[in-house]
Amino acid sequence: MQRTAPTRSAMLTSAAVSPDDRPQVHNASVDEQLAQTGACSQVHLQTGRTCTLEHRHQGSCDFVARQDVQNAVAAHRAADGW
Ligand SMILES: [Zn+2]
Repeated sequence: MQRTAPTRSAMLTSAAVSPDDRPQVHNASVDEQLAQTGACSQVHLQTGRTCTLEHRHQGSCDFVARQDVQNAVAAHRAADGW
């Protein structure tokens, strides 16, 4: 009796996807102006949103829309004292 191997076919399917289609983790830039305030300032290129957490914050970035950046930075600075 032959057994099918669904995991193997799944691997073959994912291997058919071009590596170029994968999101690049390091494909990010920094808002230099915002960085001078002490914010993380990582820009999420797909959305144009910016991280307004403290520069050396723990965990993942918290991206906000451009028009909310100034308010979000001010709020984080007031809350966290940086
Ligand atoms: Zn960040």
